[in-house]
Amino acid sequence: MARQEKMLSSSDYSQSLLSNLKKEQISSITDEPEKISTDSLSQHKKKPQKPIIFCEHCLDNQSFLQNTLIAIENSWHISLPTSGPLTNGHIWLIPNEHIVAITDIDDDEYEELINVKEKIVSFFKESYGKETIFAEIVRNIQECKHVIIECIPVNEEMNESCYGTVMQELNTADDEWTDNKKIILTRDQGIHGAVPPNFPYVFFDFSLKKGIAHVIENPRRFKNDFVINVLAENLGIELLYVRRKTSLSSIQLIRSEIEKKWIKFSLPS
Ligand SMILES: [Zn+2]
Repeated sequence: MARQEKMLSSSDYSQSLLSNLKKEQISSITDEPEKISTDSLSQHKKKPQKPIIFCEHCLDNQSFLQNTLIAIENSWHISLPTSGPLTNGHIWLIPNEHIVAITDIDDDEYEELINVKEKIVSFFKESYGKETIFAEIVRNIQECKHVIIECIPVNEEMNESCYGTVMQELNTADDEWTDNKKIILTRDQGIHGAVPPNFPYVFFDFSLKKGIAHVIENPRRFKNDFVINVLAENLGIELLYVRRKTSLSSIQLIRSEIEKKWIKFSLPS
């Protein structure tokens, strides 16, 4: 049987996903769409039980990685990637609290996130002359990992080229037998509302102008470093080389360079 390859708008996707779940998982259904989305997805709504004791990304945790911190922006903080920067200026945007997926946050928190992302887009444009690729992966909600948004400055040509590569990779990332292969084009609205809460997903956002999301049905097809691997390959970057730049002295040097540039974009003290 020929596989269906579809590109859907986010609202189409949510509708379609809920409809599939309706067929596969729901035995009794009300005719209230909101109730369906809240109650019927019980399989995906199990809250992670793992205690958060040693999370190095929770701002108030004693294990927090203080030496990679660049700035705190309300409920978010900006840090250097511990695995080394992919490009000059590469940073992580991380919620201060232990949030597992951006699809879980409320409208106010999402608005605050968009404000910080807008600042990062301006920061890369003015300080590096680059476009911004934001990327995040939530492979498995039950793993309860602190979500990290990669923020990578790239030139305009690479930005377009990465968009094409991401589209291709996500189109071929599903199991061969999957009929529900779907790419969600989020355009400028982002991931919030495009994928229902508590579904694992991968999301690439290109300077807040266009985005590509994909629900992860089989986490084995998506490793934790999926987004970094896709982008590194497209940018022609050797990851082993990147990871060599993570000595303490390198981190201090890179951090102080970015800190100085970020000052004019940071919150007033
Ligand atoms: Zn955490």
